[in-house]
Amino acid sequence: MNLKWVAEEIAHYLFPNLCSFCKIKLLPNEMGVCLQCLYKLPKTNNLDEPNNLSETLLAGRFPFERAASFALFTKEGLLQCLIHNLKYNNKPYIGELLGTLFGADLLGSNFIDTIDIIVPVPLHPKKQTIRGYNQAESFAQGISKATSIPVSTNELIRVVNNPTQTKRSKTERWKNVQGIFEVKNSDAFENKHVLLVDDVITTGSTLEACAIALLKCSNVRISVATIGVVL
Ligand SMILES: [Zn+2]
Repeated sequence: MNLKWVAEEIAHYLFPNLCSFCKIKLLPNEMGVCLQCLYKLPKTNNLDEPNNLSETLLAGRFPFERAASFALFTKEGLLQCLIHNLKYNNKPYIGELLGTLFGADLLGSNFIDTIDIIVPVPLHPKKQTIRGYNQAESFAQGISKATSIPVSTNELIRVVNNPTQTKRSKTERWKNVQGIFEVKNSDAFENKHVLLVDDVITTGSTLEACAIALLKCSNVRISVATIGVVL
């Protein structure tokens, strides 16, 4: 028995690390969510399905190669709880964990065969400073860990800090995100197949606004991966 182990055991007893969803005490190797809850996630398992739910939602908004989401996002559901904790409760490791799991699924499909680079939807620097991290980037880092595809975080940038989208209609959301993203150097993604990554597909407005900025790079191709997709 060493002192570090004793200190960790005492800390764990005094400040138990609980599962974000079912609130049971986590085991030392569990991060943010217990294994039982992870197994219960409503995964889409539709990576190789043409016109899957994510592709149907984004169809006609911008040209893309493929789109897929890790799990279904339902009101009060397990994934909503995890994404809430990821975004607002200082738990970036939940994004990385889900990204690593999704990355393993991606490796088993032909979805990512031609992807050159992973690009998370950026937060405005002010918002990122307040939150301390970008939740889409955490997910992107997890995918990168599993697939060894690099992540780019400094070429696609958010130039306008727009207010929250949550209570807006589809048209209002679109007006709200137009022109808020820019690519710093138009040759950054030239001839590249970009995997654009976000937390949840709701209306697709934010992804569309990012795609419009990316499409200024010559011969760029875009695919999309998100943690959740709204049913
Ligand atoms: Zn749990």
